[in-house]
Amino acid sequence: MYYKCKVCEHEEARGCLPTVTCGVYLLFLIGCTAGIAAVTARMIRGDAPPQALSFGWWRLLVVPLSLVGALVGAMILNAILELMEYLVFAFRRCPNCGARRWSWGYTRGFGL
Ligand SMILES: [Zn+2]
Repeated sequence: MYYKCKVCEHEEARGCLPTVTCGVYLLFLIGCTAGIAAVTARMIRGDAPPQALSFGWWRLLVVPLSLVGALVGAMILNAILELMEYLVFAFRRCPNCGARRWSWGYTRGFGL
């Protein structure tokens, strides 16, 4: 992602998160969320047979809710990754003016 020095407007692309708003990356995050949710559900459910977790007609609600949940989870995961990258990067000195005041990471434009 891009980071901008708050003192002199110097801009750098840093870290391993994409520098563009990226659909494939979002799908990757949603996939990670779904994987984490599946593992968590398995740990909670234990060895119970699959029929034990039948929602009946509630399934009609569960499907859209789980889609929303996956999106929210992806946003949370993204925020955690951005925070990690920011913490790694924000303690560097600006090569231009030596200040340690960086903006929050941001993207520019859209990618695949
Ligand atoms: Zn600077």
